[in-house]
Amino acid sequence: MPELPEVEAWRRQLDPLVKRSPIEQAGPAHIATLKTFDPPLKALEGEGLRGVERRAKRFLLPTDDGELVVLVHLMSAGRLKYVPKGGKGAKTPVFRLRFVDGGELQLTEAGSKKRAGVWLLRPEAAQAELAHLGPEANTLEADDMARILASDSRRLHSLLRDQRLIAGIGRAWANEILWVAQLSPYTLSSQVDADALEQLTTAIRSEMDRGLELRLAGANDEKTYRVHDKLGRPCERCGTPIARVDFEEHTIYYCPQCQTGGRVLKDRRLSRLLK
Ligand SMILES: [Zn+2]
Repeated sequence: MPELPEVEAWRRQLDPLVKRSPIEQAGPAHIATLKTFDPPLKALEGEGLRGVERRAKRFLLPTDDGELVVLVHLMSAGRLKYVPKGGKGAKTPVFRLRFVDGGELQLTEAGSKKRAGVWLLRPEAAQAELAHLGPEANTLEADDMARILASDSRRLHSLLRDQRLIAGIGRAWANEILWVAQLSPYTLSSQVDADALEQLTTAIRSEMDRGLELRLAGANDEKTYRVHDKLGRPCERCGTPIARVDFEEHTIYYCPQCQTGGRVLKDRRLSRLLK
């Protein structure tokens, strides 16, 4: 799933493109993709877009007059792409906005499960839709982080991914951040001391920055991640093979030397705990 650095990099690419020309036609949309029916998509026609904004992992496209907001959540497999006039786009995107100049913004989603979503909202409704989100991961200071850690006793990997506490981090960047901070994914938030708090806050900020820089330069997953999806590859810091463990419904990657002091983490899949 694209996380803060990926969504922010796309946002910056798309922002100047959607402002070029007003919307000629909004939709059609896949029935599972469009989550709202009032106001209707037709209300967008003739409107210009102010650009592309971002909140957590969502794109927000407000109209020039400030009356409407298109909200897009890509989930795991959604992709948002601008196709210029005459360019090669998808045949059946799950959602599209065609502009007067012939350009088209397309949302596509691989696979048969349609989980990506588009909402057309009034600004107040958009605000309500986003109200549960925590502060943006790339703006966190140590005292924000101290407050977040104190709010719940949770394993760090799970806490970092909770959008109500911190917005923008998913499983890939949680792996990267904990590796940089040299903390175990299973450490409880209540056990994080002052030094670890500092390491964790610094790691969140530096990884969000590093990720954005790489994604803006077009780096792929292989080049971007250092532990995520790197099972058996030598840790860049100590050479120990990267390990993997199933936790809840996620797979965690970590260095069993620099993060857990030589301990191998035990499988904590829900299905296994329920047996
Ligand atoms: Zn290591």
